[in-house]
Amino acid sequence: MELWQQMIRDSIHTVDQLVEKFGLDRDVAKKLDEFFQARINPYYASLIRYPGDPIWLQCVPDKKELEDVDAKEDPLMEDSMSPVPNITHRYPDRVLFLVTSQCGMYCRFCTRKRKVGDYEKISMKNLESAFKYLEEHTEIRDVILSGGDPLMLTDNMFEKILSRLRSISHIEIIRIGTKMPCVLPQRITDNLCNIIKKYHPVYVNTHFNHPWEITPESTEACEKLANAGCPVGNQMVIMRGVNDNPDVVKELMQKLLKIRVRAYYMFMADETKGANHFRTSIETGLNIYEHLRGHTSGLGVPHFVIDAPGGGGKVPIIPNYTLHHDEEKIVLRNYKNEVYVYKNYNDNNNPGTKAESKTKVKNIVKENISDVDENKDTLLNILQEVEK
Ligand SMILES: *Cc1c(COP(=O)(O)O)cnc(C)c1O
Ligand code: SF4
Repeated sequence: MELWQQMIRDSIHTVDQLVEKFGLDRDVAKKLDEFFQARINPYYASLIRYPGDPIWLQCVPDKKELEDVDAKEDPLMEDSMSPVPNITHRYPDRVLFLVTSQCGMYCRFCTRKRKVGDYEKISMKNLESAFKYLEEHTEIRDVILSGGDPLMLTDNMFEKILSRLRSISHIEIIRIGTKMPCVLPQRITDNLCNIIKKYHPVYVNTHFNHPWEITPESTEACEKLANAGCPVGNQMVIMRGVNDNPDVVKELMQKLLKIRVRAYYMFMADETKGANHFRTSIETGLNIYEHLRGHTSGLGVPHFVIDAPGGGGKVPIIPNYTLHHDEEKIVLRNYKNEVYVYKNYNDNNNPGTKAESKTKVKNIVKENISDVDENKDTLLNILQEVEK
């Protein structure tokens, strides 16, 4: 057995361990275990500095999780956009391909709790129908391996998936969505890197949330992936008590660049079961973004996005840097709140003027308004505003 596999086996996961190590009440620990099991491997556990710290909050079950069990199980409607088991096809040219239900650690804020943990939740039996779908749909040029964590598969199994994907000529790029470099960096072995190298272009997106997760071990893992030729990006979730602070996020982004990881996405936390206590305001997110853009390397500034509830996909949120925009000019403010004017150029193909953009908003709202929609009143108000 490889070291990383042994570390999974040695993870804290039983009710007894939760009571002993973290002082949870036994009944609460039992309920939490039924709600979403714990898996805290010895590496990630070693990063905890004190109870309730940003590492602890991400991995140790908390009784607050039991307060909002009414929230949606599948807020992003991934299942309804699943044409065959294991595939989510939301965008025109790329799909999510779930290849395992297992992870190197179970994050308490996970939005895929319905898929993650038990082996039955994502069945390997269905891989064949997924491959068939990918083969038949020639519009798919980008496949994102996800789960669970795809690097929970053995090297052997993982290589089988990569080589099968590479046998499909219309698939141009393969992405691996994995938290392993952060939560179990021992998984990034030389053998794994040698396998990945054979199937380029392979992109890796990983998931660091706090500067304490940058350690000698995670540094080595990210460097290995970069040396194997993988561009590595980071997807971060803003969470209360973990990283809802501009200085913490800036430090994280800068440290990631030092280990050759670029910022990719910064998400608002999703409205999901058992994770409401992590949520923060949109203003907190905008404030973090404003403290990055211009203040540090653009390579370390992620796209700030909300994964729209109901399956709308990722939508960018940008602080308002445009003070005014008309046919003649655009008035901008920069990161230091200094104002600059850029003269417009009339190329007789000018779709973005103010009057036209009002019409655009009006049409979008009208097309989306429906009598049964819970947002109907909000949309009617927007319509009134633009018609003023
Ligand atoms: C996030 C996501 C993707 C990838 O989106 P990019 O913006 O291309 O990174 C693809 N499919 C689904 C269902 C997703 O949630
Ligand atoms: S690694 Fe991803 S899928 Fe697994 S528990 Fe964490 S957030 Fe959920």
